[in-house]
Amino acid sequence: MYYRCIECDKTYPIESRNYRCECQGLLAFHHKTNRFDFSSLRQCPDWSLWRYRSALPVFDEHIIDSVSMHEGCTAMIRLEDHLYGKAEYLMPTLSFKDRGAVLLACLMKSLSVSLCIVDSSGNAGTAIAAYCARADIACSVYVPESTSSAKTLQAESYGATVHRIGATRVETAVRAQEAVKISRAFYASHVYNPIFFEGTKTYLYEIFEQMDYRLPDMLFVPVGNGTLLFGIAIALQELFAWRLIEKFPLVVGVQASQCAPLALRSAEEVCLGTVAEGIAIAKPPREKEMIQLMGMLHGIFVHVSEEQIVQAQHQLGLKGCYVEPTSAVCYAAYRTLIETHPDFNGLTAVVPLCSTGLKTLH
Ligand SMILES: *Cc1c(COP(=O)(O)O)cnc(C)c1O
Ligand SMILES: [Zn+2]
Repeated sequence: MYYRCIECDKTYPIESRNYRCECQGLLAFHHKTNRFDFSSLRQCPDWSLWRYRSALPVFDEHIIDSVSMHEGCTAMIRLEDHLYGKAEYLMPTLSFKDRGAVLLACLMKSLSVSLCIVDSSGNAGTAIAAYCARADIACSVYVPESTSSAKTLQAESYGATVHRIGATRVETAVRAQEAVKISRAFYASHVYNPIFFEGTKTYLYEIFEQMDYRLPDMLFVPVGNGTLLFGIAIALQELFAWRLIEKFPLVVGVQASQCAPLALRSAEEVCLGTVAEGIAIAKPPREKEMIQLMGMLHGIFVHVSEEQIVQAQHQLGLKGCYVEPTSAVCYAAYRTLIETHPDFNGLTAVVPLCSTGLKTLH
């Protein structure tokens, strides 16, 4: 297991505290994986994402057992004739971020980290706080002031120290990185540390298993910093390399029109306010990588209006699924795509229901 700079290929050992290369390039994670044997899953008694253990980064069994809360294996709920919602709000901290957070916590525990710092718009910080509690690691979470208080209260309940920064999401990250520099704490960033994506890739493994070793025609994914998108892309490339799929499904990356650096490619990095606080990222550090990746997958970026998001949240509620506004963007995009492109009708699709509506209550 090691990190490799995506710009200059310099490698760093897994013990490294560098979260960027000396050349400022971002890091990718590399490890040896053999073709995962999905047929072995029929006898697997482990109903969590650790059922894919041999395809995940390697950690000591004791560490995994003490840190894990049996996250993963979330339900696929039929929402419409050809549409499923994957209920990521059923995770231990009520969002899909647990998939990556559990791996980051295992990594930190194996490196004997005692203090970590993370910046987040809410759910990632909350998830990392919970898994740090499991791993006995002190955790400081930096959030922009606009973050819902339910999320910060939840992070505090796990024993984390929450710093509300009266500035943008970008400035919040800068403040966290400054704190990392002076404290020598581990930077447990879901954006910079690519081990996080090894966790989020299990989202796609599960869909593949749950759909009887097939994938839907369309995969919708919300895009802020791209932590779920990167996981999906890694898993798609693996399944393809292992000859378990012959082609990629259509990957539809969804942003809020009010903050859509990828879908609208506006020159200024502006983020007008959006109800989709979880993906309000004006300048994602891995933006260039996301563009390259979507080019490789032949995916598309779309954006949805505030009105469409709020309406989609309401419609999901009427189907029994209570999600936060950010988690309704994919359903909003699905409805729009189906209505404007009748040829997409009849194609199977999966939307992630990333987190619960309780997260944005005041
Ligand atoms: C984190 C998150 C997303 C995806 O955001 P990324 O920054 O792309 O990882 C989407 N919805 C919710 C509710 C989230 O917490
Ligand atoms: Zn480099």
